[in-house]
Amino acid sequence: MLKGRNAVVTGSTSGIGEGVARALAAQGANIMLNGFGDAAAIEALRSELAAKHGVQVFYNPADLSKAEECEALIKDAEKRLGYVDILVNNAGVQFVAPIDEFPVEKWDQIIAINLSSAFHTIRAALPGMKKRGWGRLINTASTHGLVASANKVAYVAAKHGIVGITKTVALETATSGITCNAICPGWVLTPLVQKQIDDRAAREHIDQKTATHNLLAEKQPSLRFTSVENIGALAVFLASEAAQNITGVMIPVDGGWTAQ
Ligand code: NAD
Repeated sequence: MLKGRNAVVTGSTSGIGEGVARALAAQGANIMLNGFGDAAAIEALRSELAAKHGVQVFYNPADLSKAEECEALIKDAEKRLGYVDILVNNAGVQFVAPIDEFPVEKWDQIIAINLSSAFHTIRAALPGMKKRGWGRLINTASTHGLVASANKVAYVAAKHGIVGITKTVALETATSGITCNAICPGWVLTPLVQKQIDDRAAREHIDQKTATHNLLAEKQPSLRFTSVENIGALAVFLASEAAQNITGVMIPVDGGWTAQ
């Protein structure tokens, strides 16, 4: 379905981003991977996707907390892939503490990675998309782009900001063949969420199973995790021709979280 398309997926060395990169590659898209991690594991992922799907797969280690590295990532993708059709802004980190105990450097880091990076990558990628009259901007927001939870002030602010960027860019690109949408996952079992389960188990002196159940029961009525494959499939749909007139929307994938 996406044969010949070129996609940049930020934060694709783990979790949701890896799931999205796998799903786009499986549909024939060439991929620029990005994110941190073990060099051998990243190379294994890169070569696996290339061999399995017969697509070109590159890796760029840009640190997206830095504006100039966001721009350099897009430039490198345009150089190595030729151009960028699909940009998935997905890299993100979490930190949990009440606002009056929230470390200032954690606030700055989360705003930089979870929010500002999308501003920088989109402004770098848009001129090329406009030139070709086709583009798909897909931002991984969160249920926390739509509602809040205590103790996540930076994350909630950043994700609400991503929703704002998504709507604004959708309006600015409405007649140009480019769409801009946000996926809003609830709980997806990735390292980012596993850490919150581990912290809860330690804090409440409970086992992993109970901590997992409690985490889900607090927010996600389905009591099930969304899988990274579920998110990958939605990204594929948003990148497809069928989604050509879907723009500026937030799509919750949250087991009923935001219906409450
Ligand atoms: P994860 O920890 O598995 O993956 C995060 C990815 O971002 C990794 O590839 C990591 O290397 C990369 N990354 C972190 N800092 C970076 C930086 N400075 N520069 C470049 N890359 C960087 O987490 P995940 O759960 O897959 O999260 C991915 C996205 O999904 C995040 O934006 C997160 O907020 C969002 N999200 C996750 C959930 C969930 O339940 N897991 C729910 C809603 C939204």
